[in-house]
Amino acid sequence: MIRVIGGGLAGCEAAWQAASQGVPVTLYEMRPVRPTAVHKTDRLAELVCSNSFRGDKLDNAVGLLKEEMRRLGSLVMRAAEASRVPAGAALAVDRERFAETITTALNDHPLITIVREEMTAIPESSDRAPVIVATGPLTSDALSSDIAQLVGSDHLYFYDAISPIVLAETIDRSKVFRASRWNRSIRPVRLKPDATDTGGVRLPVGEPRGRQADQPACGVDDGEGDYLNCPLTREEYDRFYDALVTAESATVHDFDKERFFEGCLPIEVMAHRGRDTLRFGPMKPVGLTDPRTGREPYAAVQLRQDNLAGDHFSLVGFQTQIKWGDQARVLRLIPGLEQAEFVRFGMVHRNTYVNGPTVLAETWQVRVRPTVFFAGQMSGVEGYVESAASGLIAGLNAAALVKGEAPATPPRTTAIGALAYYVSHADPAHYEPSNITFGIMAPLPRAPRSKMARKLALSERALADLQTWLHARASQSVSEVSRA
Ligand SMILES: Cc1cc2nc3c(=O)[nH]c(=O)nc-3n(C[C@H](O)[C@H](O)[C@H](O)COP(=O)(O)OP(=O)(O)OC[C@H]3O[C@@H](n4cnc5c(N)ncnc54)[C@H](O)[C@@H]3O)c2cc1C
Repeated sequence: MIRVIGGGLAGCEAAWQAASQGVPVTLYEMRPVRPTAVHKTDRLAELVCSNSFRGDKLDNAVGLLKEEMRRLGSLVMRAAEASRVPAGAALAVDRERFAETITTALNDHPLITIVREEMTAIPESSDRAPVIVATGPLTSDALSSDIAQLVGSDHLYFYDAISPIVLAETIDRSKVFRASRWNRSIRPVRLKPDATDTGGVRLPVGEPRGRQADQPACGVDDGEGDYLNCPLTREEYDRFYDALVTAESATVHDFDKERFFEGCLPIEVMAHRGRDTLRFGPMKPVGLTDPRTGREPYAAVQLRQDNLAGDHFSLVGFQTQIKWGDQARVLRLIPGLEQAEFVRFGMVHRNTYVNGPTVLAETWQVRVRPTVFFAGQMSGVEGYVESAASGLIAGLNAAALVKGEAPATPPRTTAIGALAYYVSHADPAHYEPSNITFGIMAPLPRAPRSKMARKLALSERALADLQTWLHARASQSVSEVSRA
């Protein structure tokens, strides 16, 4: 029997997958007995915010991830299809119908028992009775304490400050310059000892995050510096500052209110402390010489490469709660970002998650206790689809344990395998939950020059490799059954 704690996106998918393998599952969900600050209903798989599962085409990494999940028999994808609403190239759902479809499917499954109860500790586990913890970003306090005991309190985080990310090709390179503060050269790269099988990409430990070890920072040409810097004159800074302090802040949930860590204050909170506070914080210009003027600018915003592909850059230290529409307007006042397209907006919110690379194996098992799995946002992925995807593999692997089979994960050339690889192998010193992107997938040996062709080639390879993996897994199960 498998115990799954948490009936959200990850827990529901995990329960479904395990039961589909013929293994009985008990799913514990604390709502409505104990509510969270964000969920509004007692339904399983409630979508707490947007009703979008994002892009649904194969030229988009999350579109690929969804297609892989469909091929792996995902309940979340089936329910999303059944409750789909028009949303162009994206997959968006009627949230009530979606949650209802999942709740009914799990209720009706003969091998699944649903218990409405808060689990305050991780229960005993064994190969015959593994446990999947999928309690999400709002894991209850009692269980959080127990998780901290298992993984070490240094490896459990409770809060997320997210900086906006822009698409590299939309940055006006004529206005920005590349440099590290004080012209500090790129640090030597240390590789994690266990990061040998990486499909050709080596993940460095230390700044800058996500850089290929044998290439200059920013994934570009000559290694002059690790950051793209947007210099501001006094007039530009004043215009930006005035727009920032008058911008509309997002409605925060009660739990978020004003409880910010000093180390990750939203920029608008810092700005309200004084006109120059940002110039001594994330916009400080010291140590940066603008090659066009030969002088330090009045203020500067640093952009750091955010993925291996080098097509995403994050605004360093720019976590913010400004509403997304206003955020785009204000941030586009920064020189070089006038035409910026945002891959992700800045956020600050409660988020309980473990430091994946320290805690988890690629199979979503806890390294120090392999009969316990973490899945969903708690495991250090980001987003509805990614959470469900991790639950899918955790569910299959927990079932494999019960049946005496070896847990496994699809290869890193697939989106679902790349996500597992990221969670278990990224740089633990700078670990942040990640959405799926093509940037974390193993690169193609001979990549087409056109971006679109490259993405489609990655997807084509991923689906072919997933098929091969599925066949191998099916024949392994058959041979294990006949041996038994
Ligand atoms: C405010 C907020 C807004 C977000 N908006 C988006 C968005 O728009 N798009 C997006 O893709 N992602 C969004 N996310 C991230 C989102 O939470 C995850 O993507 C996704 O819901 C995570 O799935 P999960 O299964 O890990 O957690 P959840 O879906 O949160 O499920 C976890 C479940 O565990 C239950 N639980 C918690 N503790 C216990 C316990 N001790 N015992 C039993 N049950 C327990 C909870 O009640 C909950 O039902 C948002 C997150 C937050 C906090």
